[in-house]
This record gives sequence, structure tokens and C-alpha cells, in this order.
Amino acid sequence: MEKKQFQAESKRLLEMMVHSIYSQKEIFLRELISKASDAIDKIYYKALTDDSISFNKDDYYIRIQPNKDNRTLTIKDTGIGMTQEELEENLGTIAKSGSLAFKKEVEMQDGQEIIGQFGVGFYSSFMVADKVTVYTRALHNEEGYKWESDGQDGYTIEPYNKEDVGTEIVIHVKENAEEENYDEFLDEFGLKSLIKKYSDFIRYPIKMDVTEK
Ligand code: ADP
Repeated sequence: MEKKQFQAESKRLLEMMVHSIYSQKEIFLRELISKASDAIDKIYYKALTDDSISFNKDDYYIRIQPNKDNRTLTIKDTGIGMTQEELEENLGTIAKSGSLAFKKEVEMQDGQEIIGQFGVGFYSSFMVADKVTVYTRALHNEEGYKWESDGQDGYTIEPYNKEDVGTEIVIHVKENAEEENYDEFLDEFGLKSLIKKYSDFIRYPIKMDVTEK
């Protein structure tokens, strides 16, 4: 399979994320939840003017699922999803203003502690992930796609048979190292408090299965 390279700009931001010593690595969760919510909003607003789309509130949610055994954290949404072109455009490049403003600011100040002030978007997941896999299927599309990257050496896109419309982001959580502990992102209790902190303005349900004690 062909490996595609990130745009030069994106590569620099990625390097910063991968090697980040930023203390609030957790903000990746805020970013992913907010993008998942945006994706559901997009269907919601489409449905207002398009009779062929029904918006049944129960069908729209964000699900967050940790798996300690596999060291993965999955963030699934039932939002609008992405076509192959959108995947390429959105996750292969820094397309939007938030990330770009962030990068400029960092260049000027050369400081890590300001990351939290910016919408750094999807790439912030590489602060806690050594690999990210995205499964997505766009509204009105039969075909789904799988995007994968280690955040350093480019990314791959291939067709993937996804049953439902929406996006599923699988964070392969980094191994703990000296002074770096990522277990909070695999722990139901730790996640619950993070979700609470970062879902204040989210108007869709955020679900997580919890183990019975
Ligand atoms: P930014 O918009 O700040 O650059 P990101 O890098 O997080 O943000 O994402 C880039 C684009 O990728 C978004 O603007 C959106 O179009 C798309 N995207 C990201 N996450 C999702 C998702 N869960 N569902 C659908 N599209 C998404």
C-alpha cells in the first residue's frame, strides 16, 4: 500500500505533538469530542433543509471506549463522516485556521504551555498515541475508508467496509515511560472525569460502557 506524506506544515505540527512535553496532554480529548460533536451538527443542520434525512435524536451520540488489554481508546461518532477526498484533505494537511494560528503562535513564542489555548485539532491525539486509526463513512456514501498513521512517517488510506455512517477514531495509547504515564486515558474512572470536564457545551449524549463492580 502506498504511504502518503504529510504536508510540510503539518509535519512540523505533528513533530511538536509527538515530542510534546506539554503537561495537559488530555486536551486531545476535548479536541476529539468537539470535532465529533461538529460532525453530528453537520447532519443536524442538513436535516433541517433536506427531507430525505431524518434526524432522530436517539441515533446521534458520541461513544468513548477504552480497552486496557489492547491499550486503545476509541472515540466513535454517528456524525456526517468523511469521503476519501475529505480524509485526505482534512487529516493530511493543516487545513483550518485553528491549527494554523496555533502553529504561528508557537513559532513566535516557542512555548509548549500555550497549546491549551488553541484548537489544535485532530493532530493533538499524537500527544498520547503512537498510532491513530480512523474509520469513517460519509453520509450518502456506500463505501467507507480506513486512515492510519504513526504521526511521523506519513499515512495510509484504504477502503474499509464500515457498516454505519460516521467516524471512529482509535487511539493506540503510548506505552508508559519514565515520568510519562498514559494509563489515565485507558481507565474508565479517569476518563469519566475528563469527559465531564470537556463536554460542557456538547449537546449530544456521550456514552461509555462501564465495568460492573
Ligand atoms: P481543525 O478544523 O481545527 O483543523 P482538525 O484538524 O481536528 O481541526 O480537523 C480537520 C477537519 O477534519 C475538520 O474541520 C473536519 O472537517 C474533519 N474532521 C475531524 N474530525 C472529524 C469527525 N469526527 N467527523 C467528521 N469530520 C471530522
